[in-house]
Amino acid sequence: MAYIVAEPCIGVKDHACVDVCPVECFYEGEDILLIHPEECIDCGACEPECPVSAIFEAGQVPEQWKEYIAKNADPFTAGHNLPVSVQKGQWEAQMEVEGSVANLYHKKYPKKE
Ligand code: SF4
Ligand code: SF4
Repeated sequence: MAYIVAEPCIGVKDHACVDVCPVECFYEGEDILLIHPEECIDCGACEPECPVSAIFEAGQVPEQWKEYIAKNADPFTAGHNLPVSVQKGQWEAQMEVEGSVANLYHKKYPKKE
């Protein structure tokens, strides 16, 4: 079973998890990062790196976020070609650039305090 990203990532999306993933299986979802269910090797390295505890092993997802298991998997099952997530440093640099993906993301999903 792969790991998944759940609701607390919304408005944070800081990409800290991307830096530690050995197989680069994080992709850009609309509101959260998504983990490719077949590429994830279940190493668990990303889970403690998330500042808002948004990452769970699929069998450990809290009841209120169970829908996020499908939310992580469905775009890949449907064959959507999502962009691979960049590392945290690159994402932060992008944020300063008006109109970039990172910049537009935080206009739509304001940063949580
Ligand atoms: S570390 Fe957590 S909040 Fe940051 S992008 Fe990854 S899942 Fe989202
Ligand atoms: S569990 Fe390991 S392989 Fe899977 S997303 Fe996290 S860091 Fe990447």
